[in-house]
Amino acid sequence: MHALPSQLVDGLGRVHDNLRISITDRCNIRCSYCMPEKGVQFIDRSEVLSYEEIERFARVAVSLGVNKLRITGGEPLVRKDLPVLVEKLAAIEGVKDIALTTNGVLLAGQARALYDAGLRRLNVHLDTLDRQRFFEITRRDELHHVLEGIDTALACGFGPIKINAVAVKNLVEPDIVPMARFGREHGIEVRYIEFMPLDAQGLWDRGRVLLADDILRMLEEGIGPLTAVPDPDPRAPALEYRFADGNGSVGFIASVSRPFCLNCNRIRITSDGMLRYCIFALEETDVKSLLRGGGSDDQIRELVARVVSAKWLGHEINTAKFVAPPRPMYSIGG
Ligand code: SAM
Ligand code: SF4
Repeated sequence: MHALPSQLVDGLGRVHDNLRISITDRCNIRCSYCMPEKGVQFIDRSEVLSYEEIERFARVAVSLGVNKLRITGGEPLVRKDLPVLVEKLAAIEGVKDIALTTNGVLLAGQARALYDAGLRRLNVHLDTLDRQRFFEITRRDELHHVLEGIDTALACGFGPIKINAVAVKNLVEPDIVPMARFGREHGIEVRYIEFMPLDAQGLWDRGRVLLADDILRMLEEGIGPLTAVPDPDPRAPALEYRFADGNGSVGFIASVSRPFCLNCNRIRITSDGMLRYCIFALEETDVKSLLRGGGSDDQIRELVARVVSAKWLGHEINTAKFVAPPRPMYSIGG
C-alpha cells in the first residue's frame, strides 16, 4: 500500500483543512429557498451517522490536516444532545476551531450547554427582524425565539457570532439595512449570502439573486460608506467590509457574482455519511459503508484523499452547463 498523505491536496494544489459536518436533514422551520413547505422526505434515522461515527470520521479527517470543523444541518439543534458531540469534537487533538450554523430557534435553551461543551463560534441564520416577513420566509412564527437565542448566546459569551442572511431578490430588500443596523448594535457581523440554486423546489433563477454589489449600494445609501477589509485568511469565502464610521462590519458570500472556488478549502459529510468535495457536486462518495462495515481508519483516509484529489475546479453557476445537485441545501448543510 502506498503512503497515506498528511494533507488533503487536490489537483490544483488547494489544501483542504475545513470539514463541514451535517448532523441531520430535519428542521423546525421551512425557509422557502431551502425546503418545501410540506411533504419533505427526510433521511431515515437508521441511515444517520451516530455521534460516535461522526467523531471517528472527524478524527480521520483531522489526521489528514483538517483543523476547522463546522456543525450544520438541517437544523443541528433539533438533534438530541448536541453538546455531547461538541465535546467529542473539541477533544480531538489538532482541532483549532469548531463552529455551529443554526437557525437559532432552539438556541436560548441550549446556548449555555453548548458553550460549556467548548463551542465558541456561532452563525445564526436570520433574514429579517419583521415578524410577518419572517413568517413568509420560514412559514413559522418563530422570530421571537431566534432573537431570544441571539441574546442568550451574547450573554453566554459566544464570539464571534455572525448572522447569515440569505439574499433573495424581491423578498428581503426591506431587511438589508435593518439587519446591518441590528448587527452594528449588537457587535455581530451580518453576512449576506447570495441565493444559491440549492432550493428543494427549483425556484432559483439568476433574476432572483440579490447581488452583493446591490446590497453594498443599499447599505452605503442607508447607513454610510463601507471600506473593503482584506481577510487575514485569504481562503475565507466572505468578502468583508467595515463601516467607515468604525462601527461594525458586514460580509458577503457572493457565490454567484464572485465565485471563490479557486480558494476552496472545504469538504463536507452529509448526515447519512456521504462525502462531498463541493456544495454543488453532482457526485458523492459513501463513507458510511466503511464506517459501518468494518473499514479501517486507513481505508477511510485513503477514500477521503482520493475524493479530494479528484475534486473539480468549481461550480458552473455562471454557465449554461450548470446542473443543480440532486440534494437540496437542507440535506447538504450549507
Ligand atoms: N438550519 C441551519 C441554518 O439555517 O443556519 C443550518 C443549515 S442551513 C442549510 C445553512 C445555511 O444555508 C443557512 O444559514 C442559510 O443562510 C443558507 N441557505 C439555505 N438555503 C440557501 C440558498 N438557497 N442559498 C443560499 N444560502 C442558503
Ligand atoms: Fe431549515 Fe436552515 Fe434550511 Fe432554513 S436554511 S429550512 S433553517 S435547514
